[in-house]
This record gives sequence, C-alpha cells and structure tokens, in this order.
Amino acid sequence: MTGQPGDHLRTPPFAWDLLQDKILVHTRTSSGTRGDIVRTGQIHDGLTLCGADAVQTARECHNQCPGQWLQLVDPAAYEDHATPEEPFRPDRVRLTGQASLFEDDEDKGVGGDVRSILDTQLRSGTTAGLTPTRYIKAGKRDIVTAVVDFASRLEAEQTILTVPLDHGWLRNDDDIDFLVEELDQLPHIKAITLGAVYNPLGLKGTATGLRRLISGLERVALIRTDLAGLDAYAHGALFASIGMQTALRHVRTPGAVPSKKRKPRAVTTTVLHPQLLDYFNADTLRELYREGDGPACHCTECQGRPLLRFDHNRADQAAANRHNLATWLPWAKELQRAAPGRPRRAAWHEICWDAVQAHQELSEHRSSPGDPEPPRWLKEWVGEPN
Ligand SMILES: [Zn+2]
Repeated sequence: MTGQPGDHLRTPPFAWDLLQDKILVHTRTSSGTRGDIVRTGQIHDGLTLCGADAVQTARECHNQCPGQWLQLVDPAAYEDHATPEEPFRPDRVRLTGQASLFEDDEDKGVGGDVRSILDTQLRSGTTAGLTPTRYIKAGKRDIVTAVVDFASRLEAEQTILTVPLDHGWLRNDDDIDFLVEELDQLPHIKAITLGAVYNPLGLKGTATGLRRLISGLERVALIRTDLAGLDAYAHGALFASIGMQTALRHVRTPGAVPSKKRKPRAVTTTVLHPQLLDYFNADTLRELYREGDGPACHCTECQGRPLLRFDHNRADQAAANRHNLATWLPWAKELQRAAPGRPRRAAWHEICWDAVQAHQELSEHRSSPGDPEPPRWLKEWVGEPN
C-alpha cells in the first residue's frame, strides 16, 4: 500500500488492544430485528455477526452507532474442507465499485481474494477482519502449515486468523504441541473454533485438550463456542465469542449426516440452566423436574418467572436465547473483574464447582435411576477424572 502524508496519524488501533478481555456474542443477523441486534451489542462487549447479510448489517450498525461496541463478521467458510492448495474460501461475493486496499499487492488469486474479504469487513466498521479459513481435518498438518504460511503475509494488526479445527486435533498431545508450535509463529490473533457432528465438548478429552491448546498460545481466542469460551478466557484467551443460537456454539463437520435417531424439529428451543451450567432442550429440561415446578430464574430477562416455561416455538426460542445471554453475562463479568492468571482461573473453577454440586443435589433429590450426570466437559473443567 502506498503511504500518504499523515497516514501515521490515522493508524487504526491494534485489534488485540481493542479485543483484549472482551466476551462477544456470536449471532445470526436473521434472528430478531435490527433493534434486537443493536440492544445485544449495547448490553454485551460486542458482536460477531453471521449470515448472508452480516457485512451489510455490520455497516448499518456502525453507521447508526459508530464505535459503541466491537463488531466482527464471521465469514463462516467452514462448510468446505481445506486443502493445502486451497485453505481459504475464495471471495464469492465481491462488492462492486469498491477498490481494494491491496490492489497494488503482488498476490493475486486466493491471496487477493482473502485480502478483499478482510478489506470488505474492515470497510464495514469491523474491529478486525476474520479470514475465511476452511475446515481443517484432524491431523492434516500440511494444511495448518499452508494456513500459517499464507497468514504470515497478512497484516497482523487488523487480521484475525480463523482456525476451524476438527475436535480430533485435541485427541493427542503431539497434535496439540504441533498446533502450538505452528500457530505461535504468527503475531496475529488466532481465533480457534471447534468442529464436530454434535457438541465437540461431549467427546472425551476435548475440553481438556482445548484448554491445553488455549493455554499454550499467545493472542488466541475461542469463537463460535458455548461456555467453553469462558473456560478459554479464564485460561488466558484474549477474547471469546459465545453463540446466541445453538448452531453458532460450534462448527458442524462438513458433510456430516446427523443421526436418524434424533428427530428433527421445526424449532428447537435450548435453555441454559443457571445452576447446572448446561444447555438443555426445553422438553428435556421439563423432564428433569417431572415431579415439580422447577426453579424460578432471576436473570434480567426472566425476572423471577419459571425456568420451565419455554417451549419449542419461535417466540420462546427468541426469549430463551435472551435468557441464555442474560444468564452467562454475570459469569463473564465476574471473570473480567478477576485478575488474569490464578485469580481468574479460581473464579471460573468456583462457578464450575458450584454447578457440579447443583447436579449432585438435583440427582439426590430425584434419586431415580438414569439421572443425568454432570456433563463430561464440566467434570473436565473441575478436574475430575473421566
Ligand atoms: Zn432467565
């Protein structure tokens, strides 16, 4: 890029300074009105927007309320597998009439495409540009090397390298050590997101491996995730982006066919239990309390109304999504108030430990066979053996 007089005065702030210690909401632009999106941005530290009109929405929000909250756009290039030759998804939707900031760059083809995607995000008022990295199959080290090699040529200060990893990467320490060694060569923020057919943290050892990966890296983030974002933040992540909608709490393995045992529903409402620290389908939650009314919820959304009131319909799904955000926000704030390192880890451990106790109390109260155990990841977070 050719420098102009006075450019040094307009240098944008570094992404890692702006995003340090932030817990963002990962959300679809199609869920709710523009007003809902603005309110979510104002209540939380910021938003990572997903969906076909994410760039457009980011631009409108930026124009409407410039600088009120942080914004990122998730290019969601995870539906294809990466290859060493094509680790990134090319820019399919070029905005016409927009000159690239990088048009004098020597890189053409995929390189130019990636820069164009980042450029479009930044011009729409995002805090940084997220790379359109494709899904990285477990153990495919040559792909990670190709991703790192290309990313090393992208400006670090405003680029976030998206790293969509299959959960299988976290199965053995050798692979985790390889990822740390490769990714840590980059000064860029590395935004990890985990892929599986269902919840990656439901698979043995994933929560532990993820924590090891996050703890080993500098300038790392966990995005498109669930409460693992808080675990990552407590263990040194620069920032996290927690999904508002169920599908935005992990990445689906490309081409994965969901089990036929699980009947698809037109609308599935998922509710975060404030004491059990876990998301439940609305009907599963009611089954947990089949002999009683269940607890009242005192989050800012529910204000004392019953936790079991949600059903599988659009209105309840939207209300439950707001309840979910209102439920984890105080935990995020508590961690943000704690000093990084041991105090923050201790604060998170206490939240998790209380949840394990709540699971046990509920189980003793019900005392029926087949009661749900604390979820695997929760046991891993508090350090219980599997
Ligand atoms: Zn609530």
